[in-house]
Amino acid sequence: MFPILTPAQVKRIAAHGVLRSIRPGEVLIEAGARVVPFFVITAGRVEAVRPSGKGETLVTIHAPGQFTGEVNMLSGRPALVQSRVIESGEVIELNREQLLALVQTDSELGELIMRAFIVRRVELIAHGLGDVVLVGSNHCSGTLRVKEFLTRNGHPYSYIDLDRDADVQELLDRFHLTPADVPVLICRGEALLRNPTNQEIAACLGFNESIDQTHIRDLVIVGAGPAGLAAAVYAASEGLDVLVLETNAPGGQAGSSSKIENYLGFPTGISGQALAGRAYTQAQKFGAQVMITKDAKRLLCERKPYAIEIDDDVRVLARTLIIATGATYRTPSLDGLSRFEGAGVYFGATFMEAQLCRGEEVVVVGGGNSAGQAAVYLAQTAKRVHMLVRASGLAESMSRYLIRRIEQNPAIVLRTNTEIAKLEGTNHLEQVLWRDGQSGEIETYDIRHVFVMTGAVPATQWLVECVALDAKGFIKTGPDLSQEDLAAARWPLARPPHLLETSLLGVFAVGDVRGGNIKRVASAVGEGSIAISFVHQVLSE
Ligand SMILES: Cc1cc2nc3c(=O)[nH]c(=O)nc-3n(C[C@H](O)[C@H](O)[C@H](O)COP(=O)(O)OP(=O)(O)OC[C@H]3O[C@@H](n4cnc5c(N)ncnc54)[C@H](O)[C@@H]3O)c2cc1C
Repeated sequence: MFPILTPAQVKRIAAHGVLRSIRPGEVLIEAGARVVPFFVITAGRVEAVRPSGKGETLVTIHAPGQFTGEVNMLSGRPALVQSRVIESGEVIELNREQLLALVQTDSELGELIMRAFIVRRVELIAHGLGDVVLVGSNHCSGTLRVKEFLTRNGHPYSYIDLDRDADVQELLDRFHLTPADVPVLICRGEALLRNPTNQEIAACLGFNESIDQTHIRDLVIVGAGPAGLAAAVYAASEGLDVLVLETNAPGGQAGSSSKIENYLGFPTGISGQALAGRAYTQAQKFGAQVMITKDAKRLLCERKPYAIEIDDDVRVLARTLIIATGATYRTPSLDGLSRFEGAGVYFGATFMEAQLCRGEEVVVVGGGNSAGQAAVYLAQTAKRVHMLVRASGLAESMSRYLIRRIEQNPAIVLRTNTEIAKLEGTNHLEQVLWRDGQSGEIETYDIRHVFVMTGAVPATQWLVECVALDAKGFIKTGPDLSQEDLAAARWPLARPPHLLETSLLGVFAVGDVRGGNIKRVASAVGEGSIAISFVHQVLSE
């Protein structure tokens, strides 16, 4: 976390910045400062403290050979700790651009500095040393939303639990708060936000402050799931000027996965949160800028450069665009469904899930082709597959060949007019209760695995009629585009669209939002990175 640089390393850093003297009491970085330089101490001592209402918490003391900073240096967000000189000496000072140039060009120093920054942030999070105090209750959905938002954005916060902390009444009185105001966020010691939206939190914490929204970008990527983040890493590392827009937090669906076990290179698995955090930092290291809580509201595709309308009627301009907005799974509104995601509730039936429920009874929910395929596939290894369909039959929603296979398979029990009433368990799903739609009768079964195959809805509403979509609303790309699609879109070039290119020149679709995509983290990452080579070709066209 606090490595000591060798004289040779210090010399290499000095070539990027300026040397200056420091004296005791001098504040090098103020907590909350928006412009945050990077300092290497060559003589003297600098302490890092986190100021709070109750005083200060000492984070560390930097000695000669050590350096200040954490991941905020890369994102350009306000400083979380104050750096103050306690012993006179000398420092090398680099601004943010000089630091980015250093970590991008000097691989040894880049690795050392990045690792220290990331571990420091992890420590700040672990000790709740941030500029945010959250007052809430674990029984309140608003509190859980804010916690998730801060966590998924890797922002440290301290938490005061209304149900547990003894001195909470004093705090409520001091700020004239009632329990109805929770969750309450005390933000940067300046603002008190009552049940804030994620946008309000991002604005208060200055998540997007350093990002220029006015100049024309080589590439705008919409969505910071695995596909969008992969595209950002490749594009920025190959010198493109990249802006990413994200509604919520980096990571997308993968960010909500407790453990991804089939992603290459992580033999013991990796949590979606950890994977997203790393990818996000990696994209920023190469200079990609990521705007959080900024939705693409509308694409204006009749003009060049393309304009993407974000909040408050602000538009960002792009020479090329990558759509990586993913899809959301249609989930029955059921108590406990999200609690058991990955712990008995699954949205895909692959070899991995099939192994998890080998020899056990499983439930497949849904009457479409994806549900049918899942039932047939799982019946090869499961003891019994209960297929729950709300309608009175499958004929309307499923291909004939699949219906036949289901009917002929003794391991599959088709239950029409049936829907799940409740899911129960502690850490893992243990019991499924389902209701007969005609009699209203509820039956309880000891079943530990439910596959929700009710389809995914692509996030394409904001595209209006700019790109050709398939029958289910997913974006058509490359060879999937018919001559009629291209004629309707008035495709302007003699060449056909590139792989992953939509019916709109220079606009690409990658990941789950793309028609025919295999809904996996690896394929999203692969498509995001492949698209960049075509972006280069379009930019040079
Ligand atoms: C619980 C769960 C567990 C999973 N586990 C695995 C697994 O173990 N292995 C595996 O390979 N796959 C797994 N998957 C599937 C995998 O997560 C997805 O295939 C992958 O995340 C798709 O990536 P994506 O970037 O295309 O889309 P997404 O991950 O859906 O990301 C899209 C992003 O775009 C943002 N967005 C949407 N609309 C807009 C807009 N208008 N403006 C700005 N931003 C927008 C969203 O907020 C989101 O962050 C899992 C999925 C879930 C839900």
